[in-house]
Amino acid sequence: MKPFAYTRARNQQAAVETIAQLQNAKFIAGGTNLIDLMKENVEQPNSLVDINRLELTSIVEREGGLRLGALARNSDTANHRLVRERYPLVSQAILSGASPQLRNAATNGGNLMQRTRCYYFYDVAMPCNKREPGSGCGALEGFSRMHAIFGASRQCIATHPSDMCVALAALEAVVQVEGPQGARSIPFADFHRLPGDTPQIDTNLKREELITAIDLPAASSVFSRNCYYLKVRDRASYAFALVSVAAALDIQNGAIQQARLALGGVAHKPWRLTDAEEVLKRQRPDEGTFRRAADAAMRGADGTEHNRFKIELGRRAIVRALTIAANGGRSV
Ligand code: SF4
Repeated sequence: MKPFAYTRARNQQAAVETIAQLQNAKFIAGGTNLIDLMKENVEQPNSLVDINRLELTSIVEREGGLRLGALARNSDTANHRLVRERYPLVSQAILSGASPQLRNAATNGGNLMQRTRCYYFYDVAMPCNKREPGSGCGALEGFSRMHAIFGASRQCIATHPSDMCVALAALEAVVQVEGPQGARSIPFADFHRLPGDTPQIDTNLKREELITAIDLPAASSVFSRNCYYLKVRDRASYAFALVSVAAALDIQNGAIQQARLALGGVAHKPWRLTDAEEVLKRQRPDEGTFRRAADAAMRGADGTEHNRFKIELGRRAIVRALTIAANGGRSV
């Protein structure tokens, strides 16, 4: 690991000012991804600014919704009474990711900032446009079982690894950030980027900006009764998703009033499925409806020799997740 300087920020303003003055510096909180990347020499910051002492750990009610502190630990968030009652999709998604030990250390802000688990990204002997722009993409001609079927480019076919972010995308969370120019809000759909010609840039967060909170809107608590996070993976635990589905339905008088659907493990960012959501609207929550939605969802998917199976897997996973969501989150 390359030697680095270490600074501990006293407060939010000091954190932002410090990082703005340093070259090639990064914030560190739980460190569950960044330290791994530094050990592998994938990330080589000159300085780390420790933000663990900042008062960003609370989870509070705000404007009828919930504000999740950026430094609240993933396990505290998943097990918080109000998160479980009003946004169980978020609890389920967090608890399906990583391991208990990692969730105890990982923060909500860090969850958004984690980088792809593409094998070639981690192997510095291999070409990777995300790690070293212009060097090529090892996965394009290599093994691509875990890679994207939506929104990829010739530069990069990596996927975003988070489970929590898939639920946040479905529930239209808003990311609050603080920078040298002040505070701003980023709708979740605009937070992560597709690879395009700049796969080295994962998010629309500016270098000096700090994530302070994630807001779950009041309107999304309507899905608390009928939601489900389904994760399909190679191992039963401690594995990244081949495909995951965040499904949420608002069912009244036997019909779906509104629906939210997002996929994980299929794109460079959590993949919201607005066309499929439209198909579900005003329909009866039955298998025929769910199959039509799944067909709409997977339209436009395109796989490689190794991951084309994800298209049919995604279709089936969507039907299953919607079926369980319609049944109050209980398996049928
Ligand atoms: Fe790198 Fe992206 Fe290609 Fe993986 S898919 S090797 S992260 S450029």
